[in-house]
Amino acid sequence: MAFMFVRRQAEVSFTDKRSKALLDALAAICISKPKKQVIAISLSLTSEGSILCIAENSSVSPKILTHLASVFSQLKEIRSSLQSPLQEVNEDMNTPQSDKGSTTASLESQLLGDIFGFSMLKFQQRLLKRKHRFETEVRPGMHAYATAKSSEWTRGEAEDYKKFEKLLEMSSICFEWAESPGPGLIVRHIASLVTDNALEWRDAIKDEGTTSRLSQWEMEIAIFQTPAFPLRRYLAKVFSLSNHFDSLLRNVAYSFRMGPALKMLTIKTIDPIHTNFAFHVSESVLRESLISFDNAIVNNETLDDVVSTTMDYLSRSAQFNSATGIYEVCDAHVHCEALLLRHHLLNPGLPPFPYIGVSKLCCYACHALFDAYNKTAGPGEQKYYTKGCHNKLYPLWPIPEFGEPRDERIRSKLVQEHFAVELAKLLKSKNTRAGSDSTDVSTGSADAATSKPVVDYGMYPCHVVTTLPHLHYIDAISAHLAAARKSRVGSNS
Ligand SMILES: [Zn+2]
Repeated sequence: MAFMFVRRQAEVSFTDKRSKALLDALAAICISKPKKQVIAISLSLTSEGSILCIAENSSVSPKILTHLASVFSQLKEIRSSLQSPLQEVNEDMNTPQSDKGSTTASLESQLLGDIFGFSMLKFQQRLLKRKHRFETEVRPGMHAYATAKSSEWTRGEAEDYKKFEKLLEMSSICFEWAESPGPGLIVRHIASLVTDNALEWRDAIKDEGTTSRLSQWEMEIAIFQTPAFPLRRYLAKVFSLSNHFDSLLRNVAYSFRMGPALKMLTIKTIDPIHTNFAFHVSESVLRESLISFDNAIVNNETLDDVVSTTMDYLSRSAQFNSATGIYEVCDAHVHCEALLLRHHLLNPGLPPFPYIGVSKLCCYACHALFDAYNKTAGPGEQKYYTKGCHNKLYPLWPIPEFGEPRDERIRSKLVQEHFAVELAKLLKSKNTRAGSDSTDVSTGSADAATSKPVVDYGMYPCHVVTTLPHLHYIDAISAHLAAARKSRVGSNS
């Protein structure tokens, strides 16, 4: 349950695991700030080399371009250092064994050190984020668990616990470093400590069997401490940079089919879009829209509740223009994955891989946008996919413009398949709480999530969606309903 990062399964039809891992790795290694930085990357291959398009929520920092260029040139050197050229094999089935030369290992280590050096602040932040709980709960909790249970363990369980003890030793060194990080040499040392010594452990995290051992441990520690410490998730984050490094080696340097990618690198930065927009929502318009949206609202209390939370949110987050009676939002930024989607739809000449790498999970609105675009894409139009969705909703998320008639199609799909559905859930969940006799068993997790204790797995549970005011839903829906009423065109479900 805790590992279900992707809650909505609409867009899992992208199955090329290798380009997915590669693109996500490229986006992740560009992060240098400890917080609040998100990067999206696309990759097009030509016979001359590769073109990377990169977007950030704000302007792309020039040092990222230098870093990426250096990473590509190092990957090229690593490939050239192999004793014999790579052979063509089915890379989806097996990873070709690279025939390493005398300098390969030191070149790899140089690249690893550079990757950790560039993203050091982020790595430190990940490591230290749960240090206190790791030291005061996991360490003694696991020790107590081992003392109580080790006599009943199978050999496999005992071996896994031994591996875990090694990991505890390593974590002490890493914590000490992260609290007072030294010069570049030490960063390199920590990079190889985490990456090489924990190799077995990193494999174990990917392996189903040990993943369930970690889940078991999470529960065992939770007996001592609640809420449960998200052990697997924490370790996966700490090891993520090492895994991305592996992915770059496997999917570029040692990949036969990606050879052309290393010929020449062109990097295009996509400019951010900051936009001002307005909500044409007054209290009475909102109320009317909600009533016409869902006949199920029989309870005035529910309606009052949704209306007042929404208006309250608006007055706090947007500026009310008393002359026009409209709430205005200034300087909202289009999210970086949506910037790339827009760029490629407006410049279809050289389509990239259909997967856009992002350095973190997408917000709910971006996820819905990609899904809505894919569902409206015409024959011959490429679909685009991204990482899973953390379900958080940023109510002031601006919908990027793609030009007509695409905008109309995408927005209509967004409303029909996502925003309206979510709004219905919101109204229904409020109805349920107000004691309605609704017996609808929702397959969505919204209702279930509210009744469970909130466990902080670092992701945003679905109920966030139901408690935030749905400005976009309401704004988009009221516009949609008004248009529908005017043209008397029914929903084309
Ligand atoms: Zn987003």
